[in-house]
Amino acid sequence: MTVLCKSSLERIYAHAMRLYPLECCGFVFADGTVHLGANIQDELNRSNPESYKRNAANGYTFSLADTARLVASMRTDNPVSIIYHSHPNVGAYFSGEDHDKALFAGEPIYPVSYLVVDVRDDGVHGSKQFEWDGMQFECRESFS
Ligand SMILES: [Zn+2]
Repeated sequence: MTVLCKSSLERIYAHAMRLYPLECCGFVFADGTVHLGANIQDELNRSNPESYKRNAANGYTFSLADTARLVASMRTDNPVSIIYHSHPNVGAYFSGEDHDKALFAGEPIYPVSYLVVDVRDDGVHGSKQFEWDGMQFECRESFS
């Protein structure tokens, strides 16, 4: 599992605070480079609220450009190794929605771990990194 360095974590936390009270999302490449993603959940929700019940305050979906970059990286020697998003006001846990998003037919879609950031109105209260254990995503690391 790729472990986050302090500067990567700081960029992610700054992203989470800037987007608060909306969820931020992005990813970290194997070399530690952070890519700040675009959360298009509000656009999806506005264009089709029946299909996309969640908005950006309680959900995230990467833009097509982000998804293309993520997928393409898997064929390179510097693949995305961590996908992150923030949880405004609800704590850092791996939700049912997060499992749904990470899995296809019960298997992880990408060989990555997931970082969930706990962000509140007074700032970031840490984050947790989750990794697939063969059955579910388990918390493997906590950061302050
Ligand atoms: Zn989540």
